[in-house]
Parts: sequence; structure tokens; C-alpha cells
Amino acid sequence: MSTTSEQTTLDERTARPVADEYTARHASALIKTVGTPLRVLERGEGAWVWDVDGGKYLDFLAGIAVNSLGHAHPVMVEAASRQAATLVHISNYFASKPQIELAERLRRITGAGDEGRVYFGNSGAEAMEAAFKLARRNRTEGRSKIVSLKNSFHGRTMGALALTGKVALQEPFLPMVEGVEHIDTTLEALEAAIDDSVAALVLEPIKGEAGVLPLPSGFMRRARELTAQHDALLIVDEIQTGVGRTGEWFAYELDGVTPDAVTIAKGVGGGAPIGALVTFGAASDLLKRGDHGSTFGGNPFAAAIAGAVVDEIERAGLLENARTRGAQLQDILRAADSPLLTEVRGAGLMVGAGVADGRALEIANAALEEGLIINAPNPDSLRIVPPLIIGDVELDEFDVRFRRALARL
Ligand SMILES: *Cc1c(COP(=O)(O)O)cnc(C)c1O
Repeated sequence: MSTTSEQTTLDERTARPVADEYTARHASALIKTVGTPLRVLERGEGAWVWDVDGGKYLDFLAGIAVNSLGHAHPVMVEAASRQAATLVHISNYFASKPQIELAERLRRITGAGDEGRVYFGNSGAEAMEAAFKLARRNRTEGRSKIVSLKNSFHGRTMGALALTGKVALQEPFLPMVEGVEHIDTTLEALEAAIDDSVAALVLEPIKGEAGVLPLPSGFMRRARELTAQHDALLIVDEIQTGVGRTGEWFAYELDGVTPDAVTIAKGVGGGAPIGALVTFGAASDLLKRGDHGSTFGGNPFAAAIAGAVVDEIERAGLLENARTRGAQLQDILRAADSPLLTEVRGAGLMVGAGVADGRALEIANAALEEGLIINAPNPDSLRIVPPLIIGDVELDEFDVRFRRALARL
């Protein structure tokens, strides 16, 4: 591998006059649910983004595992332009070819096949709301509980928040939607929780917001066995892990498991806002006409872009790329040989690292100063989720910038 450090444009500027102005306007105009923006970004290409002051960054966060094809990919540009000039939005009184074709693609890549059904929303949280209603429709006399995992993340709307296993996020907005029980992520807790009172078990195969934490070995398979025994649904939240991120279309394939339903969002649209619930087999008959809906869900514009993204992931062999590049990325992190990195984990291009002394945010900030975007979802973990298109050049650049970031601490 050739070294590319000479071409590296580091973001060493301290003055960002344009960003400062926009940051002040952002602080004044937007509701304060987000903090001060890290940078104000203007454009992107491939795995790179530029800020309004001309700073260049290697984007290994990809809008939190969203920009599967990176920025300004010609396939997305073409699909978006063509569909914008054809038909952007109708309503769910009508159907469109892009929506039907995307639904067919999703039931194929999920493995749900001809018995699968797809519901479209516009985000991850909306996919989880649909999944919540699916779980409620699986209720019978005595079977009503929904089980979810502590420290999980399923979104911010009230149903998705009730599923989310983070008390601090829920507390200001109590009461939660009732009927959800959060358990420890251990086989013992799973065995104890799943019985005939459970309508559904909801889980993330790799907890992304918690810092890229894979489930314990055997957990997913046991979850499948127990839910099947007790007629509970197994609902897998693949909003972050899905659509090629882990090197398979879906992370449940890594365990050889078939769920009853899967939620999809983030990476499937490559940046177009779209989410989906895909049901398998008998679960496909649970939601009835009129049970749920969304004005924008699966409109032809978003569906055409997502369809093009899924096709390109397949055509360009990006599952294989996620596997090989992900292994290389893990090697690079280990070779950095830093006492601050206690563990490297994940699957495919969903990579995490454990960080000592609660210094993850310091590392992410130092990386930003070196023109590298990575993320610290909490003080003890780094999350690295680049576009699925990365190759040698991007990995070499990551290596150089990441080492320089560590050297700053
Ligand atoms: C991001 C995420 C969500 C919520 O998706 P939004 O599009 O932000 O509503 C839900 N579940 C998981 C696992 C996620 O990573």
C-alpha cells in the first residue's frame, strides 16, 4: 500500500469564519435538542466531505451508517434526478413502480420471500412504531408483554422510546407507553423472560448507540428458539446493522436466524429518508387494513433512490467489500497499538472500539482536528461506520489520520 499522507489536507485551521456565522444562526434558529454542530458541511464526494470554510474531512461516520454509497454517488444522483423529474409524491391511495419494486427487493434481500410484506415509513423510529403495533396485534388473552434489552436504542418517538432501554432518555417524558419490560443482555435473563406472557421480543443484533456491542454468542439463536416455543414474535431492529453494513444483507444471517419481522432505515436510502418494516410468514397477516399509515411513507422519490442504492450494493459487491474492508479496518485499529483502545469489535463495516478512562470523545475530537470524522456514542466507545464503498486509499488515509489523532492526546 502506498502512503498517501503527502496528499493529506489536514484540518489544522483554527479560524472558521463562515462556520462561526452559521453556527450562531443555527443556535438561534433551531430547537436546542442538538448541541453546537461540530462543523457546518457544504458538499461531499465519495467518503469525503468539505465544510463551508473549505476544510476537507474523511467521513467514517457516514451520517451514522446512512450514506452507504458515500456522498454524491452517480447512481443516487441519477435516480434522484430522474425520479424528481418524473413523480415525487402521490399518496398511499395510489401505487408507484418504485415503491412496489423496492418492496419486492426488500422481501428478497431479507429472505422473507413471497410470504413477506413490507410497510414503508420515513425513518427508523417510524419503522419501530409499526413494529410496536405488530407486537400489539400479536396479543391474546394472557399474552401481551413486549420484551426488549437494557441499553438498547430503538428511536425517539414515544413507542420507539418505550422500547429503548435507556432510562435517562425516557425519564423526562414519563409515562411511557405501557407493557414493555427491559432485560439484561444475558442468556440467563433471556431464558427467564420469554414465556407465554410475551407477545414480542425486540432486539438489536449489534447495539449501535451503545457503542457497537454485539450480542453474546448464542443469544440470537436462543432468542429465536424461545420466541418460537412461546408464540412470541422475534422482531430484529436492523436499522443500523442492515442492508450490507455487517457484510451480510442483515445481521441475523450471521447467526443463521430467520426473524418474524425486521426494521430497516438508515443505510437503505443512502441518505433518502425512508424506513421499512418487513414481516415474515404468518406475521404478515397481523396488521390489518387501516391499522397504520404514513403520508410520505415509501413515496416514489424516496423509493426510487433506495431501490438504486440496494441495486448498487448488489452490483458493486459491497457486502463482500464490507467484510474485507471491515477486517482491514479492525487490523488498523489494533496496529495503532494504543493503550487507550481496550477492545476492537463489530462486524463488517460496523466497527467499534472500547476506550479506556472515558476518553472516547477526546479521541473523536482529535480525529476531527486531523480531518477525520469518527464518532463517540458514549465516553467508553468509538463507532466507525464508513460508507460501504471504501477501498485502499480511504483506509490508508484513515490509518494516517487516526494515528495522528491518537498522538495529539
Ligand atoms: C438510528 C436508529 C433508530 C432510530 O432511527 P431514526 O431514523 O433516527 O428514527 C432505531 N434503531 C436503531 C438500532 C438505530 O440505530
